[in-house]
Amino acid sequence: AKEDGRGAFRFFEPSMDEQMRARRDLEMDLGSALARGELALFYQPLVDTEQGRVGGFEALLRWQHPVRGTVSPAAFIPLAEETGMIAAIGAWVIRRACADAACWPLPVKVAVNLSPVQFRDRSLPRIVAEALAESGLDPARLELEITESLLLLDDEKVLEILHGLRAQGVRIAMDDFGTGYSSLSYLRRFPFDKIKIDQSFVRGMMEQEDCAAIVSTVVSLGRLLGMSVNAEGVETREQFLALREQGCGEVQGYLFSPPRPAEEVVAMLGSIRQD
Ligand code: C2E
Ligand code: CA
Ligand code: CA
Ligand code: CA
Repeated sequence: AKEDGRGAFRFFEPSMDEQMRARRDLEMDLGSALARGELALFYQPLVDTEQGRVGGFEALLRWQHPVRGTVSPAAFIPLAEETGMIAAIGAWVIRRACADAACWPLPVKVAVNLSPVQFRDRSLPRIVAEALAESGLDPARLELEITESLLLLDDEKVLEILHGLRAQGVRIAMDDFGTGYSSLSYLRRFPFDKIKIDQSFVRGMMEQEDCAAIVSTVVSLGRLLGMSVNAEGVETREQFLALREQGCGEVQGYLFSPPRPAEEVVAMLGSIRQD
């Protein structure tokens, strides 16, 4: 009623209300999701291109909502970050991933995604140390993936936490490389163990020259800086062969397997082979 004569406002008002209500509902559900056991880790194989076998798995969070079905992390992680719930969820992910990996029949890596919000206080190195101690997982098998948005916080504190994690023997990977504003300068500020080329570049690498150029440049950059390079979102054999040819050490994507439930890790270890 406020904006008489501006129909558009009246038209959008109810849907805004609904959106807010839906968000609030989702938020309340997320609050109890962890306690109700609705969160699960799925695992996607990381394929070592030199060895031609699975060198590890990336843990990807899934929420099996009793009514909505599977909710994408793209939908609930931002919500968890805004509400602060990511602290508890993130700690659970680290513990779960370490416990799972400690039971795998081969000592392959487990990669865990971290939110920048998990760096707001200094508890992360302790959470990781406890997860490693409880599970008995060799720290060298744990890889933590962070995105550039973390380093936008531009904080001595963030660097200190990263160094604290590294001091425990875990590896640090920069995820979604190339999508931010100053990826290159971040590589100088913190010595990452691995760079993960964002899947948008991999998707276009066989058709678009700019994507192809970016992919091959990042692969050689990684080599020059002594960092491992992963290409994610590999969906075709052509992409895989080109990446291996260029010396990209690790790939992952639907070509090999989508993320699958923890129970299927052993089967994936045995079945995924690339000559
Ligand atoms: P990400 O870390 O960049 O993960 C890669 C995403 O690409 C995953 O989506 C994966 O399922 C998907 N993917 C893998 N291979 C292919 C492929 O060949 N083609 C295509 N089109 N997609 C592929 P997912 O699982 O939906 O996760 C989305 C994002 O949610 C992740 O992006 C990550 O940023 C975030 N996320 C997932 N789990 C966690 C978590 O435990 N903690 C935090 N903080 N973030 C998480
Ligand atoms: Ca990731
Ligand atoms: Ca990524
Ligand atoms: Ca991403």
